[in-house]
Amino acid sequence: MEHIIIIGGGGTGAAIAHDLVLRGFEVSLFERGELLSGTTGRHHGLLHSGARYAVHDPAAARECISENKILRRIAPQAIEQNDGLFVALDEADLDYKPLFLENCRACGIPARELTAEQALALEPELNPSLKAAVQVPDATMDAWRLPLHFYATARANGARIHNFSEIIGFSQAEGAVTGIRVLDHQSHREYDVRGDLFVNAAGAWAGKICDLAGIQLPIQPGPGVMVAVNDRLTNMVINRLHKAGEGDIIVPQRKLTILGTSIWLADDPDAVELPKDHGPRLIELGAKLVPAVKKAEIHSMWCAVRPLIAQAEAKDPQEISRDFDCCDHKQRDNLEGLISVIGGKATTLRLMAEKIADLICRKTGRNIACKTKTKKLLHYRMFY
Ligand SMILES: Cc1cc2nc3c(=O)[nH]c(=O)nc-3n(C[C@H](O)[C@H](O)[C@H](O)COP(=O)(O)OP(=O)(O)OC[C@H]3O[C@@H](n4cnc5c(N)ncnc54)[C@H](O)[C@@H]3O)c2cc1C
Repeated sequence: MEHIIIIGGGGTGAAIAHDLVLRGFEVSLFERGELLSGTTGRHHGLLHSGARYAVHDPAAARECISENKILRRIAPQAIEQNDGLFVALDEADLDYKPLFLENCRACGIPARELTAEQALALEPELNPSLKAAVQVPDATMDAWRLPLHFYATARANGARIHNFSEIIGFSQAEGAVTGIRVLDHQSHREYDVRGDLFVNAAGAWAGKICDLAGIQLPIQPGPGVMVAVNDRLTNMVINRLHKAGEGDIIVPQRKLTILGTSIWLADDPDAVELPKDHGPRLIELGAKLVPAVKKAEIHSMWCAVRPLIAQAEAKDPQEISRDFDCCDHKQRDNLEGLISVIGGKATTLRLMAEKIADLICRKTGRNIACKTKTKKLLHYRMFY
């Protein structure tokens, strides 16, 4: 069977490795740091129902609700079945509600209207002056444990996973990529690895990988800040019921509450610094939904970088679609052997992997069905 090399050890790389070994391919994955040390290990941990995207990004919303159901089945230990509330705080939010409900229904997302009293009975720390709420099947996932389920299963099925192994170059012959140059950060040794196909799953760094191959990728790194406060202030995920914006997500994670998030655009994902004013702004906005946020002790503050697909026409970074794209560089740049995956969400990691593996099957002339929709994953502890 063909040897497929995956570049990038985030959630997307994990799911691709899992899918490809199940289809019988030989798989090697290379990650420059610790596994999941890029964006995946740093996100909120919101398993999206898709409701956040239902009005303005319905394709992404449909993918989220479908994957939300699948991940609950195949990795139940990594997910809390806690649901989410979209909370209306003012008349403008109430005016948005009919459109929100209509679009949730159109995308197949169950949405239950609640009165203010019903919402407060479920979540007593909500702003007592809320006007109404809508319950949807959002959930809390563990940003590390979910992808580690994929790594544990992929490795048990034969995938070779190399962390602290950075791709620093490609070898090419006759218009095709034939190998990678790897720098092992533990032994400080460089070596070459040959393969049949190469998957660039380097997230926000995917453009830098393409630079190494002498081609360009339309990727737009989009950083965002999150703040964790001590104490679990709500049991459910809380969103503001309005057009998705800044500081309108609250995700409970075990004994913490994570407030998110902001967005801006960056050129280089390695040169992103945490803007000083974002944390206080997120606390201010989060406290509108759950006032106790303001009094809670800050546990930590950090940022992560979204691997967005560049969209010149989007005036506001929030408007950039969270959908994903699989790019065959033979079609795009006349360079055989290299495939890139960009965009997407941690919630859609399995689907992104399915599409990449389908593309690899087409390119290698194989007709092997995807098995990851139903295959239960090994527990993340099996990885260690
Ligand atoms: C602020 C914020 C909040 C978010 N919240 C959520 C959420 O709640 N729910 C959700 O579903 N999604 C969320 N997302 C989106 C989600 O985190 C990402 O879409 C997803 O984690 C991307 O995974 P990935 O594997 O594609 O990229 P990454 O996890 O970044 O993996 C790419 C890897 O490639 C590695 N790499 C780079 N260069 C090289 C090289 N030369 N050689 C080898 N390896 C290399 C990097 O080190 C990195 O580990 C959020 C994103 C942000 C920024």
